[in-house]
Amino acid sequence: MSTAADRLEAIRWEELGNCTRCPLHESRTKLVFGSGNPDANMMFVGEGPGFHEDKEGSPFVGNSGQVLSKMIEHAGTRREKVYIASVVKCRPPKNRDPRPEEVETCSPYLRAQIAAIRPKVLVALGRFAANTLSRQRSPLLMAALRERTWDYTDPGEGLVIPIISTYHPSYVLRQLQDQGHKSRTAARNLYQSVVSDVRRAVAMSQPLDLDM
Ligand code: URA
Repeated sequence: MSTAADRLEAIRWEELGNCTRCPLHESRTKLVFGSGNPDANMMFVGEGPGFHEDKEGSPFVGNSGQVLSKMIEHAGTRREKVYIASVVKCRPPKNRDPRPEEVETCSPYLRAQIAAIRPKVLVALGRFAANTLSRQRSPLLMAALRERTWDYTDPGEGLVIPIISTYHPSYVLRQLQDQGHKSRTAARNLYQSVVSDVRRAVAMSQPLDLDM
């Protein structure tokens, strides 16, 4: 029987290959598939590669990636234990939002990654990933997305996976870099909100231990 790691390799090299299915391939340096533990209980999903990710071919390797790693540690787990991917695999020019047709073209590969890994919980990093994973008809703001746990569904694979939505690390990083005293306090609170969202996801990814 093929393992999650084998299945991910097949999606990367046999199915995606040197993908030219949408115009994002024209400006990319490297396709950014995803990285981490194929047997993870927790999977993080971002929007799409940025400048550093496009150069290296790995997700969240720039400054916002360092913030993400810290958040994961402060939430009580380690980056090597989780899997990290994005909605689109190629960097949109000037970091613009991916277009609906680009998301539609790329989404079978994210869905295949989720089906291979079968995580217990998904963490959507930012509004874009949260609206995409939960398939909102009209995109919601982060405040509304965080108010409840949405479901990711894939009936063909028999999957219903809870989604924890939280702020994108690059948004948190921008707030942390803002110099003002008030904004520093607000940025620390924002950082802590993300850590508590991720901590909730960590708890949801573990088996319930009700031994009393
Ligand atoms: N933002 C994302 O959504 N993904 C990355 O890999 C980097 C930044």
